[in-house]
Amino acid sequence: MLFRLQDEFRVTNLARSVNPALSTLRDRLHEVRARMSRAAERSGRDPAAVALVGVVKTVPSAVVREAVALGLMDLGENRVQEAQVKVGEVGRRAARWHMVGHLQRNKAGRALELFDRIHSLDRMELAESLSRMAVAAARRLPVMLEVNVSGEASKHGLAPDDLLRLLEPAAALPGLEVDGLMTVGAPVDEPERARSGFDLLRRLRDRAQDALGLRLPHLSMGMSGDFEVAIEEGSTMVRVGTALFGPRA
Ligand SMILES: *Cc1c(COP(=O)(O)O)cnc(C)c1O
Repeated sequence: MLFRLQDEFRVTNLARSVNPALSTLRDRLHEVRARMSRAAERSGRDPAAVALVGVVKTVPSAVVREAVALGLMDLGENRVQEAQVKVGEVGRRAARWHMVGHLQRNKAGRALELFDRIHSLDRMELAESLSRMAVAAARRLPVMLEVNVSGEASKHGLAPDDLLRLLEPAAALPGLEVDGLMTVGAPVDEPERARSGFDLLRRLRDRAQDALGLRLPHLSMGMSGDFEVAIEEGSTMVRVGTALFGPRA
């Protein structure tokens, strides 16, 4: 009954995303997955088409190991240096590791060793470094291009108008598999206000596919405060930290 009410009113606020009554990691994981499934179902999508990436920045390795034991298969980090410690402690093959933060070119080599996927490619020099190193390692690295849909100066990522200029040459690099777009939405007090940015990312993806004849199946969008809206707008990977692990110090 309660679930039905929540569905009808689309209660998707940040306060509910960190429900203090759900004290254990197991409960929070279950709750986030249930909310993801309901968001997929009410927008006519297959819940299995949306992956949960648990963002583990600042989360102690013991807690990350517990999350992996509970079935969390995808882990996100935003700093190479922190990831190096955590990947060492949790295990390179214990989960799929996702780089979701800004990446400096001089850390491309280490990033290639640590991560299975890069969400935040935003310039050609970085794309070329990653591709060259991936080829040398006999790998093809899945990457997404980060787009700044909110236009905030503080945000990384490409301006929407610059997307095709990077997408076309990056997609031609032999060491990369460019298969989607990612965005970090503007912080919102109301999840509904994130919708237009997610809608824009999906439309940019559709247009880029048509213009370049590429397949870009993935959209990495949605965080603790707005992942349900992101799923309704087509997200295939939500990046969730706080709703799983609690507020960061
Ligand atoms: C920290 C972070 C997240 C997770 O944010 P929450 O609001 O804690 O869920 C997602 N994406 C990126 C790029 C991040 O840096």
